[in-house]
Amino acid sequence: MTSSCPVCREATLIKTELEADLSARQCTECGGTYISANDYDHWLSRSEENLPEKPDQGTISLVSGEAAGPRFCPDCKFVLIKYKIGHGTGFAINKCGNCGGMWLDQNEWQILKARNLHDDLHLVFSDAWQSGVRSEEHNTAMSEIFREHLGEDLEEITRVKNWLKSHPKSEALYAYLLYNP
Ligand SMILES: [Zn+2]
Ligand SMILES: [Zn+2]
Repeated sequence: MTSSCPVCREATLIKTELEADLSARQCTECGGTYISANDYDHWLSRSEENLPEKPDQGTISLVSGEAAGPRFCPDCKFVLIKYKIGHGTGFAINKCGNCGGMWLDQNEWQILKARNLHDDLHLVFSDAWQSGVRSEEHNTAMSEIFREHLGEDLEEITRVKNWLKSHPKSEALYAYLLYNP
């Protein structure tokens, strides 16, 4: 069965080996990759262990943003649902709401692989991961608000705050701060 690209629509996907033991289908037009739930699970079960996440080295940058509009599963034509990866990646991957197949744009797999997040995709779809992404976004937004209000004082107050937090007498120090005779 030929399957068409969820992004380019008419372009067909070509079978490829994404990793040893991991088959996928790639679009020759946009470079997007489709991985079926079975193929991913099979690969994951053969992987030795979950690789520890690595920090962003900035070596690979995202090729382009997400194109707007609904996308449909190349296998079962059901709608694809977006899941943000978080962890500083700044993009989302798509999962079929019916068969669990995954769609990754352009070089997203390479970016995930560079961070050792490529073996965590099954976790990305979980409630726990997604709520982590939301609190990460909340924290980033809060930091930006404080940065805007405090300007260059932010650095100094952050230093003081960390010193307070880690101090053995931190409770007494907080109490003194709030004490206004
Ligand atoms: Zn395409
Ligand atoms: Zn599907």
